[in-house]
Amino acid sequence: AIRIEGLGKRFGAAGPVVLEDINLTIEPGEFVCLLGASGCGKSTLLNIIAGLEHPTTGTVTVTSGSAAVMFQESALFPWLTAGRNVELALKLRGVPRARRRTQALELLDLVNLADAAHKRPHELSGGMRQRVALARSLAQDRKVLLMDEPFAALDAITRDLLHEELERIWRETGRTIVFVTHNVREAARLGQRVLLMTSRPGRIVNEWRIDDTGPRRIESPEVSRLAIEI
Ligand code: ATP
Ligand code: MG
Repeated sequence: AIRIEGLGKRFGAAGPVVLEDINLTIEPGEFVCLLGASGCGKSTLLNIIAGLEHPTTGTVTVTSGSAAVMFQESALFPWLTAGRNVELALKLRGVPRARRRTQALELLDLVNLADAAHKRPHELSGGMRQRVALARSLAQDRKVLLMDEPFAALDAITRDLLHEELERIWRETGRTIVFVTHNVREAARLGQRVLLMTSRPGRIVNEWRIDDTGPRRIESPEVSRLAIEI
């Protein structure tokens, strides 16, 4: 689980408060979307969960080990093929050489890219590159996957396809996913649980659970009194 208590963040002693009083528990296997306008502090919160930034106040406890992180720009190694990019993540994880090739192909197959294993990033479309990045994140074999607007640069059709694939992978692998987006439709499409953030300071002000019957507001003591509707 991920447990965040009384988290606050400011950059520098005199800087503005970017995050204030964030209280949040994410259970294993949940798919949570963090939704909010540009600049509200979504990436900062995700980076703190990832351990890439430190909170100014409060605590973050991640009991499921360190997380895999995926960003908007995939940053694949341009001189390595898709297959080798994934193999490298397997190598860093300590998977023996003899098993890396097969596992990399299995992971690329999971993101529907088995045919492109021999291609280099510049030979792939933006959507394909993000699939490779997703396969590489999965190769790290972490229980928690933190995704920061991973599909924001893609066209709507490619994004729809990747939503389907991500949802399938989530169901098949049982990972915990925290997915940051400023797109309401994307959050409603993907999240089992959607957290809405406001800006200045960044706070979680509303929360929905989305199931087959549609979105349902959660009356949670963790959610601030500032609650607004979307
Ligand atoms: P976007 O949707 O545009 O990615 P965001 O919700 O991810 O926005 P953050 O990147 O978390 O927003 O930034 C929140 C606020 O914190 C912004 O006002 C930003 O200028 C500030 N900020 C972020 N990182 C730093 C930093 N390293 N130093 C100083 N200020 C920062
Ligand atoms: Mg951001």
